[in-house]
Amino acid sequence: MATLKAVRGTRDLLPPETDLWNRVEATARAVFARYGFGEIRTPLFETTELFARGVGEETDIVSKEMYTWDDRARAASEKPQSLTLRPENTAGVVRAYIEHKMDESGLLQKLFYIGPQFRRERPQRGRYRQFWQIGAEVIGPAWSGSESPIRDAEVLEMLGTLLDELGVKGWRLALNSVGSATDRPRYVEALRKALEPVKAQMCEDNQRRAETNPLRVLDSKDPNDQDIINALPKIADYLDDESRAHFEQVKAALDACNVPYVVDPRLVRGLDYYTRTTFEFTVPDGSGLGTQNALLGGGRYDGLSEMLGGPKAPGIGFAIGEDRLILTLQAQMEKAPVKKLDAFVAPMGVTQNAAALLLAKELREAGLTVEVGDGTFRLRKSFETADRLAHRMVIVGEDEVSSGVFTVKYFEAGEQTKVPRAELVSVLKGSNES
Ligand code: AMP
Repeated sequence: MATLKAVRGTRDLLPPETDLWNRVEATARAVFARYGFGEIRTPLFETTELFARGVGEETDIVSKEMYTWDDRARAASEKPQSLTLRPENTAGVVRAYIEHKMDESGLLQKLFYIGPQFRRERPQRGRYRQFWQIGAEVIGPAWSGSESPIRDAEVLEMLGTLLDELGVKGWRLALNSVGSATDRPRYVEALRKALEPVKAQMCEDNQRRAETNPLRVLDSKDPNDQDIINALPKIADYLDDESRAHFEQVKAALDACNVPYVVDPRLVRGLDYYTRTTFEFTVPDGSGLGTQNALLGGGRYDGLSEMLGGPKAPGIGFAIGEDRLILTLQAQMEKAPVKKLDAFVAPMGVTQNAAALLLAKELREAGLTVEVGDGTFRLRKSFETADRLAHRMVIVGEDEVSSGVFTVKYFEAGEQTKVPRAELVSVLKGSNES
């Protein structure tokens, strides 16, 4: 029989790598707490319509990457419901914001999430079909201050702090403003006009984008199209006074907080809901990501709630690709030493198995990390296993059980001592050397 494997584009996360995942998530939770964020957990699947409306029909995500199925109807008279595994979490969070009338408090809502997302993309290093995002949203009625440029700057400053605390080296923040709901369409129109005479010279993808979603042409990495793209009109020239002032204030607040950034006029990002500030953090070549060097992205989405049938609720958010963050840390970190347990409890015969398990239970209750061997192991096998797993081995033989004095072997120092049961915990909690 053929062996079964994880589905293409999905993967198992195994220890000890999961230690790093947990450290990243614990650091993110600690930083988010300092900035007043609370956790939100939304379902892994939603109605397809949520993403069609929220993310945009013309985006790559909605037009080709979603896992969508017709969910069986409960009754013959009902139509099946089209459901989709979430390809991103912002639409779900804003749906929840509307559904739970979170605007009624009148306060700014600061929400973070950590969880898997699903996109049928071509798998490669740093790009998976099930991947994890750590993200956050700041959303609320306009009178809660949700539209203020200070929110944008706060989110960006928090991200810089988080990456620094995690130890990510050489991150680069690229920033742009894609304008408001009124000036963005003017720009899109100008782009369309400018693309009209030149689009035939562009690659097939860009020809299609020029028709369906001209902003996406700016995202294109096609080397042959770069000269044409660089000569296209710039969004900065189409911002109205308000959007321009908003962007200036974001930059001034970042300057004040010493957050370094570069303005990238081509940064428009793939999702339709963005307005005004958009941003992306990348890491330098050689950080383990290959061509997928975008660590995280986000932006402001002042009209999203209304697009989903909710009240006006401006907001700003981001999503960090956790898989990419981990790859970066692994590439940039010194190799961490293998973590060993405090003790390996080795019964010398099967009649000591029960006593060994009881001792292990007591040591674990005292907070020690412990593995137990098996009485059928010969002493040599116990030694070898214990040396690979733990700093020390506690021998549980017939004499030890009756006398209550245990032999403790210290692998690093190559020594052994006799320790009475009452002192065992404090001895094992001590330094890993003898
Ligand atoms: P987006 O939701 O497209 O704005 O993406 C935000 C971040 O999620 C990106 O910067 C990536 O780090 C990460 N990301 C997006 N798609 C994938 C994927 N297929 N596999 C791994 N990470 C991804």
